[in-house]
Amino acid sequence: MFHLFRSWLCPDLGIDLGTANTLVAVQGEGVVLDEPSVVALEKGSRQVLGRGAAVGKLARQMLGRTPESIIAVRPMKDGVITDFELCEAMLRYFLRKAGRGRFGLKPRVVIAVPGSITPVEKRAVFNSAERAGAGRVYLIEESKAAGIGAGLPISEPLASMVCDIGGGTTDVAVFSLGEIVAAQSIRVAGDELDEAVCDYLRQRFSLRIGLQMAEQVKIEIGSAAPLETELAAEVRGLDTVSGIPRKAMVTSEEIREALATPLSAIIQCCKTVIERCDPELVSDLADTGLMLTGGGALIRGMDELFREQLGIPVQIDDDPLTSVARGTAVCLEHLEQWRDSLEGDDAAT
Ligand code: ADP
Ligand code: MG
Repeated sequence: MFHLFRSWLCPDLGIDLGTANTLVAVQGEGVVLDEPSVVALEKGSRQVLGRGAAVGKLARQMLGRTPESIIAVRPMKDGVITDFELCEAMLRYFLRKAGRGRFGLKPRVVIAVPGSITPVEKRAVFNSAERAGAGRVYLIEESKAAGIGAGLPISEPLASMVCDIGGGTTDVAVFSLGEIVAAQSIRVAGDELDEAVCDYLRQRFSLRIGLQMAEQVKIEIGSAAPLETELAAEVRGLDTVSGIPRKAMVTSEEIREALATPLSAIIQCCKTVIERCDPELVSDLADTGLMLTGGGALIRGMDELFREQLGIPVQIDDDPLTSVARGTAVCLEHLEQWRDSLEGDDAAT
């Protein structure tokens, strides 16, 4: 009874602390905040610019194009917190922005973290969240949250599989009876695809472009399988021979070639996880197939490529950028029953 009253006063929050984007879901309301995981700083001072005004969307615009005196950084890299202080500042800003707490109550928070993080890194997440204003903190494996968010029947006695392609990491997992039975995380994901586009243009076009431009090209015309109508886009960069700015037209075929190597690493990761499963589970997967989530799932033709390479049915979640956050929101609805199965902060009682 008390928890109903308390959740009315101060709804629980679910957080997808991604390397590229942080999303916050509020109990009963769904996703209320979706911003880039970026913080802008005054150089040298470690002072977050303009008291939080430069966190998220604003700070992202500064990435790669900041004046000398300002730096824009991502406090999360490869799925783990690389800068604790900044992560805490970012979380505090996002928690306040999404905040529904009243009368000084602190919200209970479920945070999705990569399955591969170490106990020390987990402690850092607990500490950052608590110092940023969270009450009791629970952790859930990101891939589990992605599976739940995408509507996979992960608690059934039947194998289901998810491949979440984020900014820094790709997380692949197979579930049965609510547990992860096989999983792997690799540091090949969206960022690596952007770098592959950069490298390709430098080698083939003698054109040096920034990572932001590369990401834009990837989103605009990137594909994993041949398109019915191939696309083209204009890129601007620096000619590496003459040293002056230049434009060039690139086609979706060329970008597909650029993306091929990192994409095949992601497929190899899926294969490795399937190989680790018992034969019964593998035969389930032939029916249930693979669910693609995370921003990387939005590249055109991903389902086609994965289906062809893995030989199992492949689906893309309807809104892959929010799968994990929606999964944490489902978790909030069941927090009273599920909290024993989530990893809580034992030091904080
Ligand atoms: P994270 O969980 O690490 O924060 P996300 O799941 O939010 O990552 O995905 C971010 C990645 O998805 C970025 O690398 C971004 O470039 C990529 N992305 C977003 N939209 C698209 C799109 N339409 N096509 C291809 N890639 C996309
Ligand atoms: Mg993610």
